[in-house]
Amino acid sequence: MTSPHPGAGRGPGGKVSVVGRRASLQPLSRLDPGLRRGTGSISRRSVIAGAGALALPGCAAGVRPATAHAACLPRVNVAADRVIRTLVGLRPYRPSGFVVRAESFGDKTLVHNYGHGGSGITLSWGTSRLATNLGLPGHQGPVAVLGAGVVGLTTARLVQEAGYPVTIYAEALPPETTSNIAGGQWYPSILYDSDKLTPAFEQQLVAAASYAYQRYQIMIGDDYGVRWMTNYLLSDRAPGDSDTDRLMQSMLPEARDLGAGARGFDYKYVGQFDGMLIEPPRFLRAMLRDIRIAGGRVDVRAFASPAEVAALPESLVFNCTGLGAGALFGDDEITPMRGQLAVLLPQPEVDYAVETGNGMYMFSRSDGVILGGTADRGDWSTEVDPATTQRLIARHSAIARRLACA
Ligand SMILES: Cc1cc2nc3c(=O)[nH]c(=O)nc-3n(C[C@H](O)[C@H](O)[C@H](O)COP(=O)(O)OP(=O)(O)OC[C@H]3O[C@@H](n4cnc5c(N)ncnc54)[C@H](O)[C@@H]3O)c2cc1C
Repeated sequence: MTSPHPGAGRGPGGKVSVVGRRASLQPLSRLDPGLRRGTGSISRRSVIAGAGALALPGCAAGVRPATAHAACLPRVNVAADRVIRTLVGLRPYRPSGFVVRAESFGDKTLVHNYGHGGSGITLSWGTSRLATNLGLPGHQGPVAVLGAGVVGLTTARLVQEAGYPVTIYAEALPPETTSNIAGGQWYPSILYDSDKLTPAFEQQLVAAASYAYQRYQIMIGDDYGVRWMTNYLLSDRAPGDSDTDRLMQSMLPEARDLGAGARGFDYKYVGQFDGMLIEPPRFLRAMLRDIRIAGGRVDVRAFASPAEVAALPESLVFNCTGLGAGALFGDDEITPMRGQLAVLLPQPEVDYAVETGNGMYMFSRSDGVILGGTADRGDWSTEVDPATTQRLIARHSAIARRLACA
């Protein structure tokens, strides 16, 4: 878990831009050693200090007046005896980013849509749109979707909306998928290694993010568990540059520097942006419901080899198997990026999210307050590590203590 990176980002006016949160998944050498395990850990996004400055209009130059102390936010009550559950999930991480690609597969067409790292909730609608645009034109007959995580479900829904019958084949259904474990913040992070970023991938990423960003906005509300939430970016070091922020510029409303100590946060750099929060358990349940209402079939089964996929009756198959794609289709690049969360009792008065320069993040949801900040590359363990839980509590407790109103 952890994060970021140094490097002050300076906007056109020479002022420091604090809103440079997340970075593209940063070099592990920059990660915060405190929570590093195995090959290293990174925080969900690279956050302020590590990520990069965001050259946002009206933000990069710090043209918005600081509103420090304009309001004091309610504090998260972080304590070990308030933990209601701990979770571990394996993000399907590929250093060069997700795969959306069509190929001939015997007498079928196979369209891959997997490898979303820490961004599957964020990008699902978008990469699924790219995938269906590759597979559906000219196709006739029923369609198969492998996988029932957020990527499989959004793909299946788009297939149905285009008028095709669909069957989902999956070993696990919600709530037993990795997608159910996600924090659910709308922002691409832990998605690629910065030195692997290519113009072609940038283009796919922006196209996917743009569609997903619009699609989630028409799903706002309790039914799908999607809402707007203000995010605060806290750091004692000035932020650097972030490729992801650069690419997402048009999707970060109200991104601005608030100034040291803003909202009662005792940090040198306090930034803000408005973003969406998706509650995965609620969203995935509603999506599965929608698919079934529209006549979609669900077949619970595991595929051990490409030959088993080739034996399916459908002539068009979408591969949305997440981390499972590695073994099933021989992708050696995909690797787990393990994340652990501690969830506290809900605190409805806390209606904001926080990310820090050392990679910690807090999202307040209706089903609990999510405390996160770990990313262990190559770690396949799905067991909760009690020591990591303790560190999460200690670090988030320290963050909460720095919310002090005069
Ligand atoms: C701690 C944590 C926090 C996160 N926070 C966020 C966040 O805030 N925002 C965000 O955008 N993302 C977040 N993510 C990332 C997100 O969870 C993933 O990117 C996303 O779940 C990937 O979705 P998926 O559908 O590809 O995979 P999965 O949800 O893993 O679904 C894969 C599906 O394929 C099936 N499958 C796999 N192999 C086979 C096989 N051989 N045969 C049959 N079926 C198979 C599985 O059973 C399952 O149904 C987080 C992840 C973690 C772990």
